[in-house]
Amino acid sequence: MFLKFATIAVIMVMSFDNIACAAQGVPQPPSRPPTLQAKPAPAQPVVPAQPAAPAPAPSPQPQEDAAACLAKLSEIGAVAEPVPPPPAPLPDCSSKTPVRMSLIHLASGASLELPGKPILNCEFALVFTDFARNLLAPLSTSMLGSPIAALDTGTSYECRPRNHVAGAKTSAHGKGIAIDIGAILLADRRRVGIAHQTDAAETLFLQTMRHAACGWFTTVLGPGSDPSHAEHFHFDIEHHGNNERYRICE
Ligand SMILES: [Zn+2]
Repeated sequence: MFLKFATIAVIMVMSFDNIACAAQGVPQPPSRPPTLQAKPAPAQPVVPAQPAAPAPAPSPQPQEDAAACLAKLSEIGAVAEPVPPPPAPLPDCSSKTPVRMSLIHLASGASLELPGKPILNCEFALVFTDFARNLLAPLSTSMLGSPIAALDTGTSYECRPRNHVAGAKTSAHGKGIAIDIGAILLADRRRVGIAHQTDAAETLFLQTMRHAACGWFTTVLGPGSDPSHAEHFHFDIEHHGNNERYRICE
């Protein structure tokens, strides 16, 4: 009896040893990768692929800007020729595309002469031409009974401080974006001076034109604004502050 029990015990010990050996010697299957053990991620909404944003168009070259402006100027009826950059002794003076204007063809078929041959930056020449064709000419005919024939222009491009005051900001004239007008000459040979009118109709015409000019220019100065503008109108397209809609119309 004892031998039988001892034999069973020995067999059991041997069996445990074999199991231990098997556990140590037999390759075990690889453990499950953590990624497969984790809960599956919730389904994400399918976002359609966005088309690649188009590359920004290259900035037009200054030469292209100038050519386009000159073409536009001719298209709207101005007779102007490009001129070399005028002298700019002050650091803020410049004119990107200076042109010398000599005449504006009006919608009526008549011509508006500019005997002073003002030199303007092309972008300003566009505004000025539009002003002459669409405000000055029809207003003159309707209020004074005569087509407009010529403008007595004063300063156009001139590199100088405002109002000729040393140390003041550079005048819009120094950027080619301003023009002064001293008188308006009509086809019936009348001369309407900005400082001296011969009748109430001329005065009303100038007042009306002066107010309406703020639709084209950002700065309109004239008699009553300050002593520097007692005898002429000054028109420019200078930006005032950060607001492009701001106007100084005095
Ligand atoms: Zn001026």
